[in-house]
This record gives sequence, C-alpha cells and structure tokens, in this order.
Amino acid sequence: MKLRHFGLLPLLLVTSACHLVGPSAREAAVAPAGSSPFELVVLGVAQDGGLPHVGCQKPCCIEARRAGRTLGPACLAILDRESGRSVLLEATPAIESQLALFRAATGTEEAPRHPVDAVLITHAHIGHYTGLIHFGREVASTRAIPVHVTARMAEFLRTNGPWSQLVALDQIRPTVLRPGATFSPIDGITVTAIEVPHRDEFSDTVAFRVSGPERTILFCPDIDRYEGDILERLLDGVDVAYLDATFYDGRKLPGRNLDEIPHPPMVVSMDLLQERVRERPGSVRFIHLNHTNPALHDEEIRASIEARGFRVAEQGERIGL
Ligand SMILES: [Zn+2]
Ligand SMILES: [Zn+2]
Repeated sequence: MKLRHFGLLPLLLVTSACHLVGPSAREAAVAPAGSSPFELVVLGVAQDGGLPHVGCQKPCCIEARRAGRTLGPACLAILDRESGRSVLLEATPAIESQLALFRAATGTEEAPRHPVDAVLITHAHIGHYTGLIHFGREVASTRAIPVHVTARMAEFLRTNGPWSQLVALDQIRPTVLRPGATFSPIDGITVTAIEVPHRDEFSDTVAFRVSGPERTILFCPDIDRYEGDILERLLDGVDVAYLDATFYDGRKLPGRNLDEIPHPPMVVSMDLLQERVRERPGSVRFIHLNHTNPALHDEEIRASIEARGFRVAEQGERIGL
C-alpha cells in the first residue's frame, strides 16, 4: 500500500479537510469547482530534500523518522476528469509515491508506461526535475512525454546525461515555453510562465500561473526575493497562490540578516500579503518548506499563520479549477 509512505495525513486530507478559501469552504473544496472537470491536487509541500531529510540529525527529522512522517518536495498535479488527461508540476525525487498519491486522491489509474500527459518544470534544482529519471529506460521507459521548460532548461536536458538519453530515446520531449506567453499543456488548461530571480547555475527559474475554466492558481516554489513589481505580476488574476515558504524567519540561519536570506521568509511574505489575505482568507498557501521550518513542526506557529488567514499547503489537498 503505497500511501503508507505518507502516513495517515493525506488520507485524512483527501477525505475531509481540503481547504479552499476559508474554513466555511473546506467541504466544498473536495469537489471540483462548479461544473469544471479540472482538479488540482497538492502532492508535496517540502523543500527539495523533503522531510525527513538526508543528513539531518536534528529533532525535526529524527522525530519524523520515528513517526513515519514523510513530506515530499513541492509538487502539484492537475486532472481533467472528462478526458482523463493529467499534468504534473515538477518531477521530484519522490515522483513514484507522489503519482501514487495523485491516483489515490482522484480515484484514477495511470496507463502503463504513461504516468502523465505533460510535465511542467520550474528549474534545474534537484527537488524539481530529477524525478524525470524514472521516465528513462531502466524504469517506465515512457514515450514522448512533453516536458514544458524554458529554452535554457531544455538545452540543459538535451546536453547533459542522463537526461540527454531520455531525449535521444524520445522518452521525454523538451517543449520550450516562452516566459510571458500562454500555452496549453492539455486542452482546457492555460499556463503562463513568469521568470523569477533564483540561484540559476544550470537553468533559469520560472513560476507558473495555471488557469482552468473557473480558477487560476500560482505555483512559485522557489524565488530569492520579491523585487520591483514581481509580486503583483505573479498574483495578477490569481485565486489561490502556492508560494515559496522555505524559511519561516531567520532563526535557522543564525547570524544572517533577514534581508540576506535567499528566499523571502514567511514572516516577510505575510506582512507583504496581509491586506490581500484579509479580504480572501486561504488565498495564499505556503509550500516548499525546509525540513527545519517550524511551520511544519510547531502547532502554535501553525495556528498563528492560520489566524492571519494564511495556510500551509497540505499534501493531498485539492482545488477545482
Ligand atoms: Zn527548491
Ligand atoms: Zn531552487
């Protein structure tokens, strides 16, 4: 039973507590929005290494190992219930268990050697794309799965092993997106990629704004800072934003000034977005939490985040698009 890897939490979430826009809407969020057949499922909420985290012998991960608590790296998936077509946002190192969660949450089955119909990838850091390795010859040996990426990321995949072998064997098909331009990974869903500042050694980095017939979500798991008008541009027309929450504040980075942390700390993001969230509670949900982030471990901190109208994304939560 694959779901066991995630503990009981996602099962409970799938069946009950899927947040939409505030507590009153929680039950409604279980079903797709209105008549829309498109459903988004959160498959992972942690930073690249997940929880527990290799090499961590601090209480956060010791306790998670003891309790069998597992959180995968930030990942979303979308299902079109009419056509059965699906899109994966990020191919993480936990791709197998995340796809299993997706199928369990939606009550669907994947076709043999065809786990999804399209993949969107934000950038070339390990928690975001290395799950593609399971599409290769030694594992699923998929056929021509479109992988929507920037031109630089496509070049990285084409020219570096083992990814280059997946491209040469036409197991994945890097499909170049242009930031700012809209494309449709599957019929009925439109996506705009927005460039964001990040540590760009192997590729540049984007966030995705994804629209179905009824709702628009933002997926921005990694951004170094909100410079200029980028936050307004990211959130333009967005109903629910999944935002970088790598660090809560500076406490895990002693001696570092808050301004120097290479991700907007949650406490800063909440101040910037408080007005928006006051009007629309639940419209900003934090994702990509570092294993040490107290919002994953400390009930009081979690309650204070929710009291301000924000949410920490939950593995298994669903939104109709
Ligand atoms: Zn990351
Ligand atoms: Zn990154």
